[in-house]
Amino acid sequence: MKRLLAAVGLLLLLCRAGDAELGDRAAANSSHSGFPQTVRVRLWYLHPPRELRIRADAGRAQMRTCAACKTTAITAAALRATGSKIEVEGNKPAFSEFRVSGAYQMNAAGDPPLRADFPIEIRASEGHLLITAFMPMEEYITGVLAGETGNFKSDEALKAMAVAARTYAMHFGSRHALEGFDFCDTTHCQDLRIVGIDAHLRSIADATAGEVLWYDGEPAATYYHANCGGTTEDGHFVLGNNEPRAPFLVQHSDQYCLRNGSTQWRTEVAKRDLQRALAADGVVVPGILRAVSVLHRTPSGRVEFIRVTGNGTITVPALAFRSAIGRHIGWDRMKSNWYDVSDAGDRLIFHGRGSGHGVGLCQIGAEVMGEEGRSYREILSFYYPGTRLGVSAQGIPWQQLANEDVALLTTRPDHDRSLLTLATGFMHESEENTGLLYRATPRLKIYPTIAAFRNSTGEPGWVAASTRGRTIQMQPSDVLREAGTLESTIRHELLHMLIDSYALPGTPLWFREGLVLYLTAPNASAKQSENVVDLKSLEKALRSPASEEESRHAYAGASARVAQLARQHGRETLLDWVQNGLPANAVASGAAQRTGGR
Ligand SMILES: [Zn+2]
Ligand SMILES: [Zn+2]
Repeated sequence: MKRLLAAVGLLLLLCRAGDAELGDRAAANSSHSGFPQTVRVRLWYLHPPRELRIRADAGRAQMRTCAACKTTAITAAALRATGSKIEVEGNKPAFSEFRVSGAYQMNAAGDPPLRADFPIEIRASEGHLLITAFMPMEEYITGVLAGETGNFKSDEALKAMAVAARTYAMHFGSRHALEGFDFCDTTHCQDLRIVGIDAHLRSIADATAGEVLWYDGEPAATYYHANCGGTTEDGHFVLGNNEPRAPFLVQHSDQYCLRNGSTQWRTEVAKRDLQRALAADGVVVPGILRAVSVLHRTPSGRVEFIRVTGNGTITVPALAFRSAIGRHIGWDRMKSNWYDVSDAGDRLIFHGRGSGHGVGLCQIGAEVMGEEGRSYREILSFYYPGTRLGVSAQGIPWQQLANEDVALLTTRPDHDRSLLTLATGFMHESEENTGLLYRATPRLKIYPTIAAFRNSTGEPGWVAASTRGRTIQMQPSDVLREAGTLESTIRHELLHMLIDSYALPGTPLWFREGLVLYLTAPNASAKQSENVVDLKSLEKALRSPASEEESRHAYAGASARVAQLARQHGRETLLDWVQNGLPANAVASGAAQRTGGR
């Protein structure tokens, strides 16, 4: 293993920033541990729009009309569904498919514009546009935080929610697989609010990136709710047989949410309205509804069965009772199943406490814990007792170190502390080398074992590091140090991240890889004697190398090709191409132009 690492010397793959091809690979793309890296999310699931306007951000959007079609730059497009076709304003033939990538805004009638930099695929059905976004998992989690956490003030509570939301998504996996996507954007899956995504929420998701709660080797069923009212509910009473009975979803008292003040509510429902609502859900009360009383409560005190009396008496499960009122009278009326009911003539008065089903994490309680200085780990172990937090089933105890330039996640802080200074030095070098400035703080994540690295990244053991967004995931520092590649790996990945953050979407990987190698060691690149015959196969070998050998050749080939381009056009021109795209003659295969690598 070490020998191979030493022999490769360069090592890495999967630089995902600015990757326009992402969408096509997304569906099948998951690593060894089963973590999806990209999720397919149906936007406007409940109300698919008939029309959609797309406008490029900073001239950086492209479109295609099929997966294999040619990509063209667009500045704006107005789409309209007619039957199962998509009409594009100013374009004669209608399309059955329309794909957008790059950076852009989309407007559906009435909604504020959504800013996006993930690929979308649009199809049409019965006069509506079906819009599927290929979102990086962590961006999806950030959007769920925006949708599900309202105005949380505590960062630790937000982090706990990020882990709960990520675990929930992984536990349920692809709920809409039959419809061709993974998650809808409503509370059926988790409420997604893309317009609410901001830098702060991104930093929250990022601080817990990849962390999941495990139970029995699987991502746990991390249910959560708004406010338990002082006692959580046993999952069994809410989920029935949909979930195996889970010891981490047991009833327990919650002193925290009670400190936030009153959790009580009161609502009145007219008996006539109630009878109509029940009937609409198929619950028929004989005669005219006269009385309602609690028949049975669960041990937490929540109502389990309701007795409804007309000319006779029927028993209604409290879950069905509440959802009938929610669906047909209003979800804001009966906030939970924890209530007493009293008769007021033609109306019923419900006095209750808490909000939501009460199972799992209580958001108000989590917020109070965070404000009282508890960490997200403490919050999670309070609400999901017996689960383990980690990036893989092993549960890795990460510790974070940081200076003003870079963050470091490690399990051995004393051992790895010096890497912070090293990384800062390389960042300054990269900025001077390229004239570009880092847009976000890089994170170095150093796995404690090769197995943990492989589990979490899905990379083979001969890959030293893998970069996604602003996180560089690395093999244990000792392994790299002994292979003599620790410094070169960090240097390479940091420069890579910088270049990728400016690269025009669709910039080939061979160019980005080759440029990083060339900038860090111009002389070594010029000496590469790889015969670059075909840039297409070079690109393929870089993206998914069949072996360590093929990977090594591909890196050498990319390096040689870029060194050659640098001789022809000059270093500054190449840096310019990063942001503005490569000219056709640079993308054309190099065989004929090759002047020999010496
Ligand atoms: Zn759904
Ligand atoms: Zn609570």
